[in-house]
Amino acid sequence: MSEIKFYSGEQVPLEMHKVRMVQRVYLLPVEERAQRIQIAGYNTFLLQNKDIFLDMLTDSGVNAMSENQYASMLQADDSYAGSETYYRLEAVLKDMFGMEYFLPAHQGRACEHILARLLVKPDSVAVMNYHFTTSKAHIYAMGGTVEEIIIDEGLHINSDLPFKGNMDISKLEEAIARLGKEKISFIRIEAGTNLIGGQPVSMENMRQASKICRRAGIPLVFDASLLSDNLYFIKVREAEYKDTDVIEITREIGSLMDVIYFSARKLGAARGGGILTSDRGMFLQMREMIPLYEGFLTYGGMSVREMEAMSIGLRESLDMDIINQTPIFVEVLCNELIKKGIPVVTPPGGLGCHVDARQFCSHLSQDEYPAGALAAALYLAAGVRGMERGTLSEQRNPDGTEAVSKMELVRLAFPKRVFTLSQVKYVADRLTWLYENRSLIGGLEFEDEPKVLRFFFGRLKPKGNWPNALIRKFREDFGESL
Ligand SMILES: *Cc1c(COP(=O)(O)O)cnc(C)c1O
Repeated sequence: MSEIKFYSGEQVPLEMHKVRMVQRVYLLPVEERAQRIQIAGYNTFLLQNKDIFLDMLTDSGVNAMSENQYASMLQADDSYAGSETYYRLEAVLKDMFGMEYFLPAHQGRACEHILARLLVKPDSVAVMNYHFTTSKAHIYAMGGTVEEIIIDEGLHINSDLPFKGNMDISKLEEAIARLGKEKISFIRIEAGTNLIGGQPVSMENMRQASKICRRAGIPLVFDASLLSDNLYFIKVREAEYKDTDVIEITREIGSLMDVIYFSARKLGAARGGGILTSDRGMFLQMREMIPLYEGFLTYGGMSVREMEAMSIGLRESLDMDIINQTPIFVEVLCNELIKKGIPVVTPPGGLGCHVDARQFCSHLSQDEYPAGALAAALYLAAGVRGMERGTLSEQRNPDGTEAVSKMELVRLAFPKRVFTLSQVKYVADRLTWLYENRSLIGGLEFEDEPKVLRFFFGRLKPKGNWPNALIRKFREDFGESL
């Protein structure tokens, strides 16, 4: 891709930053990794960070902060009410999105909670490109349901489409005609669609959706948590925006939406969240809920230090040489894997590289949790922690049968500006070894299965002693090495 910073004519990405603070990491021997994953019930969420070499579980709250972000934290104005820190943050956000009102909240799901209380009535339907786990949970908690209208290609593992996160506009019109304005709580567009592989939404698609929502009088809500990757993709994949400043792209998005909310654990590379709107009526209703659920209006449950870091991080997320880093590293890892014939979601998106476990472990059926098994096997083979995004992450049907997931992925997330190229190559190398030995990977079954959000706390065990076979093969091929 033309925007990749590279040298010597190869597709070698160039880090546009230098490392000034580091954390020592440890690579345990494979036998110890086998013990740790067993103790964790073969669930990567239950591993301890000290036992992990490269943590690619998520980008949430673990992005590298810049020197300016750290410096700003020392200037935070500690005050319960009326903190200068808050006014600085409010000014940055209003300037970025061109919206009139801002409300702080402690993280992304807290914004979703407030919005669900504002907009969701029992039996209403929220129509969206695709759900995120917490956004869906808050809509259901208020008695609503969710309808997804992603374009069909969005759910195909492989495609050439630059914007696989787009809404199907004809499905949007059909849903409005079928359900009617009264039954629809809101329309939601998620930037950088998380659960289908960090796939972006085009400005063209947002413009069309906005026009339809305004005509129908239905609020359009934008989840901007993964906006920085999406901004990069609009600039490099949507020809019309090639020469547009990132801030102008951001303001145009602001002009199309009725509400924008975000998790600052992702956008802004700090920890926190917030809601923006230009609608005074909605603002006043939401404002009443902030002190009740989050905190006083000038901090909303956040520490002032995080708010200062967020102000700087948000400004930095308008700089192409900063926001290009995650997408180009994702693309490099995807390309390395594709070269070895390893199935990954294409085109590469933001957020992380997504390995298709259904193809990778085609000898396993989905009720043996191939993505969960592959995530466990990758920790065993490499000390790398990924996240299962497949059937294990679903909830069982009311009759107890498995709700088989549409996609069976292992996500290898790239926290912003955390990993180096040699670490990325190591991941590709060990995944290639695992792919060559994929027939050794067996399925998993539950030993202890929670009813709600089972992927967080559930404990599993291998079907048969396949981890031992994998260790034996590892020692044969890698000798004494870790
Ligand atoms: C992470 C995320 C959220 C929730 O944010 P938290 O800060 O983790 O509560 C909501 N939407 C999307 C798209 C996300 O990626």
